[in-house]
Amino acid sequence: MAEVFVVATGANKLTYEMLTLARGLGEVSAVVLGAPGTAASIADNLAEYGAAKIYAAEDEALDKYLVAPKADALAALVTAKSPAAVLVPSTQEGKEIAGRVAVALDNGVLTDVTGLEADGTATQEIFAGATVVKSKVAKGIPLVTVKPNSVTPEPAPATATIEAVEVSVADSSKLVTVEETVVEPKGDRPDLTEANIVVSGGRGVGSAEQFSVIEEFADLLGAAVGASRAATDSGFYPHKFQVGQTGTTVSPQLYVAAGISGAIQHRAGMQTSKTIVAVNKDEGAPIFEIADYGVVGDLFTVLPQAGEEIRKRRG
Ligand SMILES: Cc1cc2nc3c(=O)[nH]c(=O)nc-3n(C[C@H](O)[C@H](O)[C@H](O)COP(=O)(O)OP(=O)(O)OC[C@H]3O[C@@H](n4cnc5c(N)ncnc54)[C@H](O)[C@@H]3O)c2cc1C
Repeated sequence: MAEVFVVATGANKLTYEMLTLARGLGEVSAVVLGAPGTAASIADNLAEYGAAKIYAAEDEALDKYLVAPKADALAALVTAKSPAAVLVPSTQEGKEIAGRVAVALDNGVLTDVTGLEADGTATQEIFAGATVVKSKVAKGIPLVTVKPNSVTPEPAPATATIEAVEVSVADSSKLVTVEETVVEPKGDRPDLTEANIVVSGGRGVGSAEQFSVIEEFADLLGAAVGASRAATDSGFYPHKFQVGQTGTTVSPQLYVAAGISGAIQHRAGMQTSKTIVAVNKDEGAPIFEIADYGVVGDLFTVLPQAGEEIRKRRG
């Protein structure tokens, strides 16, 4: 069976999505690019989602210098093992790694794919999801970056063996050093891309102070908070919480959009949510076209009322 590489960045949802996608293409090998010890710390998680082999491409240089050494290590491993396809996360770093590997190996590359078939046909959704494109890498193997929240991660426990890979980094890849890594303090709320429930507020929320109505409803449901671009551009909520074409793509079980009109660019980041609830005082708002449940009303009345009812039913 063909071997398919998945570049695993950690025990996170996107890695599990890629492992799930790769299982339909061949025998899955996870590739861990990091400092010594990284692969061992996530091996059980990778095996849980079907990785039969884990290549531990580990060297201090991979964390010490920006991106290029990781691309060197991956390109060397692809040359040595000739996998049938390589899946890389569609993150900023992942896209740069894939681009560099493509140049090093004179191989085509496709970014932001949402699906990949065994014959190498990749799916991309463009123009805010309005157009679906099917493409194939015309030179070399399918080397693709996978967009978060494209696949539902499903466990398929396997027994994984770890294979250490010797890493050699060219001097020309050591040009930018990482001086400091600051891990942003995580609040109590779940991560936006990984949350089962997302409650988002739009321009209709009106101000940064009034976003507390969104936060309170989100906390009641154990949800992440999101925002439309109009809300983030207006300074109501930080940009990193923006959902949509130029923000984060989410696909939770439940997405609550309050005071959001439903512009195509916003929909592009949330329309695959399993259940969509919209609260908007304009019954003609386009968000109602894709909502499973729509409430026409003032969000400052509807959300507290819904919250009260939820508390009552929980007893
Ligand atoms: C290239 C490009 C990329 C973009 N990327 C993104 C993106 O990633 N994400 C994104 O969100 N947008 C994006 N946009 C912007 C997008 O086109 C819209 O402008 C934006 O989504 C509108 O945000 P909104 O729905 O919060 O605001 P509005 O469109 O102004 O809608 C506000 C809504 O709130 C309702 N409302 C007002 N008061 C209340 C109340 N008290 N109770 C209930 N409802 C109320 C109104 O009826 C209205 O429907 C992008 C645009 C471009 C051109």
